[in-house]
Amino acid sequence: MKLSDLGEFGLIDRIRRTFSQRSTKAPIGIGDDAAALSFSSSSTVLATTDLLIEGVHFDLATTDLYSLGWKSAAANLSDIAAMGGKPRFCLIGLGLPRRITVEQIDGFYKGFRALAGRHHALIIGGDTCRSEQGFLVSVTVLGESPRTRIVARSGSRPGDLIFVTGALGDSGAGLEILEKRSGTRRMTGKMTAAERSLVERHLRPVPRVEWGRKIAASGCASAMIDVSDGLSSDLGHICEASRVGAEVLADRVPLTKALLSSKGLRRPALEYALSAGEDYELLFTVPANKLRKLRNLRIPVTGIGRIMAGRTMTLITAAGTRLPLEPSGYDHFRPRVRTKGARP
Ligand code: ADP
Ligand code: MG
Repeated sequence: MKLSDLGEFGLIDRIRRTFSQRSTKAPIGIGDDAAALSFSSSSTVLATTDLLIEGVHFDLATTDLYSLGWKSAAANLSDIAAMGGKPRFCLIGLGLPRRITVEQIDGFYKGFRALAGRHHALIIGGDTCRSEQGFLVSVTVLGESPRTRIVARSGSRPGDLIFVTGALGDSGAGLEILEKRSGTRRMTGKMTAAERSLVERHLRPVPRVEWGRKIAASGCASAMIDVSDGLSSDLGHICEASRVGAEVLADRVPLTKALLSSKGLRRPALEYALSAGEDYELLFTVPANKLRKLRNLRIPVTGIGRIMAGRTMTLITAAGTRLPLEPSGYDHFRPRVRTKGARP
């Protein structure tokens, strides 16, 4: 069977069904943003790992090494945030082609530490080897959470309201701007303030670690995930894990002025939110009787829809038209675009 027959998430599900090993010491294993491990009765260890591969996730023509280090930290810290945890320790594996210089590696670590350091997460180990192909980065982050406060993907129930922090789509639009400019060798040319802000959101995303902890500590959320693959796919993961459906109101999806005002983007602004990914905002659901708890947190969130019985996701346009909402975010084995953060 070809990998493209299963797709990335079909493959992960197959590995989970066939090879997942669970124990009471690992109450959450394969299938969530991070695994949860209980060594003591009071707190839980959260563990997550992510690979970034040159030519698949990034292209050194559109990212500097500092930004790459920053983003490698962001992707993992965001997974800890999505469980409501506090990131503590980081392990960094590097596969290095000969052309990478020591100064570039310094840049990578400075970027990584700048973001991890904000959250007091320490670099404690890793592995280093030569790569005959591209540059490869593998980051593992260990976090912790009070045992009763972990938010999994699987707790949404029909009637729960769907919220997202911040705004979506900027990162995907920023990538498109970078790709266009590197294609035309205008990397250093002038960008508008809006374009700069979109590019910044792509290269230096800010994981919502504090917000994730507050949401989890308040007990308001029934399920949570970070938006790494695009709203349609990540809401799909919540629906899949919770065995529910969803309705999303298109005109409620939060988009920035920068995204809405940027001229020359290839697609309508909403499409970047639905399918581009790498925004690292938090997507979560709240039962109606816990809405006040959420409001009291004073976190910038937007209600975008509702969890439904049944297993379908629907997008309701401003005109009231109901469209099927298919998971259209990034899938490594069924790429609609060839690369995630690299030039197509
Ligand atoms: P995220 O986008 O949040 O990083 P992924 O889609 O990469 O999540 O992973 C979803 C779940 O599947 C996680 O629990 C992860 O640990 C698990 N997973 C992904 N790839 C593998 C693999 N090759 N073997 C075992 N588990 C995996
Ligand atoms: Mg995640």
